[in-house]
Amino acid sequence: MPDRRSARQAAVLNALPAQGADALLVTHLPNVRWLTGFSGSAALLLLTADRASLITDFRYAGQAPEEAGSVAEVIIERASVWDRLQRVLRDVAFETLAIESHVLSVRDAERVRGMFRGRTLPMADTVEQFRQVKDDDEVAAIRAAGTLASEALAEILPTIHAGERELDVASRLEAALRRRGSEWHPFQTIVASGPRAAHPHARSSPRQLARGELLLIDYGAQVGGYCADVTRTVALGEVDERQRAVYQLVCDAQRRACLGLRSGMSGREGDALARDLISSRGYGDAFGHSLGHGLGLEVHEAPRLAATAEAALPAGAVVTVEPGIYLAGWGGVRLEDDVWLGPDGPVLLTDGQTELIILDA
Ligand code: ZN
Ligand code: ZN
Repeated sequence: MPDRRSARQAAVLNALPAQGADALLVTHLPNVRWLTGFSGSAALLLLTADRASLITDFRYAGQAPEEAGSVAEVIIERASVWDRLQRVLRDVAFETLAIESHVLSVRDAERVRGMFRGRTLPMADTVEQFRQVKDDDEVAAIRAAGTLASEALAEILPTIHAGERELDVASRLEAALRRRGSEWHPFQTIVASGPRAAHPHARSSPRQLARGELLLIDYGAQVGGYCADVTRTVALGEVDERQRAVYQLVCDAQRRACLGLRSGMSGREGDALARDLISSRGYGDAFGHSLGHGLGLEVHEAPRLAATAEAALPAGAVVTVEPGIYLAGWGGVRLEDDVWLGPDGPVLLTDGQTELIILDA
């Protein structure tokens, strides 16, 4: 059986002629990793019909051949990887080189143009389109990250108390994630209490938690390079009717979407599974963001679940499902789980906690 990375390279190469290119310069590091396994922080990958050349620097002289040596020609450069690319491009026979226009800086695009005698062709999301569909190992890595995320939160929830700061909670959660093997925090942990939870992307702050408030926690874990992305909203001590009702509505909308998502649906239809219910109860304006995003080597990748997303959700994609209701001055509720669109329907990769957890805070 061919190495899956070689199969990925072949699939991407096969897609190039239809777009008018013979070769692709891959500069986006998650794409380099997906195509070769190389996980370092500096690399250029030139994919042509007859070879894959990975150019990196001396820091990775040991790591790069180990990770990528079986599926790419590894070139270690002591000075500049761009200078080395220029020398590599001097000897190639192809005419049209695609560059990743969605990530390459204008300066670097100019640099490639200046060093290549043929034509350069801006191309966006070519590798990303393929990355949407996860294989078994990728799904397993996201599931492992999701499990680790659930365990870390479960560990720290009983320790949360009124009077401490959001930052204290974030710090204990991040430590618990690391202790359990998370490689990194894929994004800044959000711990938003009381009225601050009305801001969907609030950062953790020095604000002190108080009894009777809802606490929104949005955090990630990473295993084997793959991310999980989870949001829970919990109560600090007793909560009132409205807090319960808003929580329940978000929860019902989230369940509806988690169970109803299917590959082949458009991203808009997926988004509507949750949005229609929230809107029907009069909270449509309070759910200002899209329902979810793809998840993999990056925490935000294709496909999108959004009112503006007409593309069909591919079989094998992993997406987040994260409806929310945010009311200025009052607070917010968001629940987020990660779902794999498997052959037999949607499969939760995170714990799918539904009951409102009331902490003895
Ligand atoms: Zn999140
Ligand atoms: Zn998310």
